[in-house]
Amino acid sequence: MTSPLYGRMMQMPLLISSLLTHAARHAGDTEIVSRRVEGDIHRSNWARVEQRARRLAQALRRLGCKSGDRVGTLAWNTDRHLEVYYATSGSQLVCHTINPRLFPQQIAWIANDADDQVLCFDLNLLPLVEQLAPQLPRVRHFVLMTDRAHMPAQSALPGLLCYEELLAAEDGHYAWPAFDEQCASSLCYTSGTTGHPKGALYSHRSTVLHAYAAALPDAMACSASDVVLPVVPMFHVNAWGLPYTAALVGCKLVLPGPKLDGASLYELFESEKVTFSAGVPTLWMGLMEHVRGQGLAFSTFRRTVIGGSACPPALMRALEEVGVHVIHAWGMTEMSPLGSLARLQPKHAALPAAEKHRLLEKQGKAIYGVDIDVVNDAHEPLPWDGEHAGHLVARGPWVIERYWNEDDSPLVEVQGRGAWFPTGDVATMDPDGFMQITDRSKDVIKSGGEWISSIDLECIAMAHPAVKEAAVVAATHPTWDERPLLLVQLKAGASVTREELLSFYKGRIAHWQTPDDVVFVDELPHTATGKLSKLTLRAKYKDWLVRKS
Ligand code: AMP
Repeated sequence: MTSPLYGRMMQMPLLISSLLTHAARHAGDTEIVSRRVEGDIHRSNWARVEQRARRLAQALRRLGCKSGDRVGTLAWNTDRHLEVYYATSGSQLVCHTINPRLFPQQIAWIANDADDQVLCFDLNLLPLVEQLAPQLPRVRHFVLMTDRAHMPAQSALPGLLCYEELLAAEDGHYAWPAFDEQCASSLCYTSGTTGHPKGALYSHRSTVLHAYAAALPDAMACSASDVVLPVVPMFHVNAWGLPYTAALVGCKLVLPGPKLDGASLYELFESEKVTFSAGVPTLWMGLMEHVRGQGLAFSTFRRTVIGGSACPPALMRALEEVGVHVIHAWGMTEMSPLGSLARLQPKHAALPAAEKHRLLEKQGKAIYGVDIDVVNDAHEPLPWDGEHAGHLVARGPWVIERYWNEDDSPLVEVQGRGAWFPTGDVATMDPDGFMQITDRSKDVIKSGGEWISSIDLECIAMAHPAVKEAAVVAATHPTWDERPLLLVQLKAGASVTREELLSFYKGRIAHWQTPDDVVFVDELPHTATGKLSKLTLRAKYKDWLVRKS
């Protein structure tokens, strides 16, 4: 290409293997620490992960995997799972992470829809996989991610393979292949709250660009000086890209395995000197209960990304009190997942603390690589005035264009601005571009033609000292179509009446938006990714007000 139209730079595809080789060459001795499923704390490093990923890539080829084949994983956050990530994508296979917390039928459906050829899984999931195997006729090899000593004497799985033995049989003389950066690299399914889950198939290019953007100072601000502990599982949108971002910046990675209770996490945060983390709100509620209950403090942990569902302001304050700054972020499986993060701009420096908090409680500003907008039902852009709530749309090089196994594109034409992905979220944008999710469109409460944000009502309830967790759902109402119904789980030993909770809304929200009733529950249901299961609650409480009237 000698034309002056073209730049004279090297043509090097953006491949996931380049993240790992960079980390291995330039941060080779930086540690990867895992609490393994077998119970031990295992210490590896980027150089070792790269060597072992090469052996695994060889082994997968030897098992007959061909370029583009999907390799399924049912696994927690550990170094072996990290190796599978890089071995598969790096050798032009597709890493298909599956959430082990889903119902077994859903797991089988997803593995079959993805047409997984190999399934790599953790030791404590062996009984689950044995139960599932008859429903997985296309899986040719089952690989138990453990060593010989932990292999079962016998298993219902024919020809069960041992991960460590597979690696030991290879010599590691394997060069990561070069190929088109648009090739598929990994596959994640959406939670599928309605109908079957859908697959989002990422590319090498989308993943590497996303990793770059995630590391930026106004995004996750990751650097080589960080010690990153992704609490978010590696089966939830690739742990929000952290296994890639960590390699890109060459930082220490701490992987907590299956033990995500407050005490186990706190121990790792302290012993490994973790500085940065990421996870869904419910997870942090559990950790904070432990930290506050025991009167503990964090010695190195300074900031965390919280997303996946709205972070209650009360949780932000609680973390701030122990010295941890919360970066509220919004994203989706369909967006790799990062879309926006709440970070202040220089002009906000002089604002009073309460005003700053108000901005940081929003889902934040789009990061470069993603553009977002709000539109009305006719797909016309709405004003960015912080008031008009509309359908949130997004576009960018790591935003989905089409689901796996589906011919039709979900994109919509926004008037005069081309094709955008309709996120299914309802949001406002303020004049500075701070986006605030008011609801998932199917969770919004439509009361007499007005919309009420279930998220706003939940956040207020969760600021009450007696409330552990709150959910607000639409209940059918004879006059208003729908009215908000508040469901609360109280903190252990706490008590509060229905009337006290309802009067807590006075002055915090317009009177007509106050929930009509309160239901006290022992526990609120959650989805497999730790979000409130509004679907379950709606099904159970939809007629609550009608029945009462
Ligand atoms: P998932 O694909 O499972 O990550 O779910 C994506 C959905 O989670 C989004 O479309 C939102 O409805 C919700 N979500 C993610 N982050 C946030 C957030 N910070 N606040 C409110 N909702 C969120």
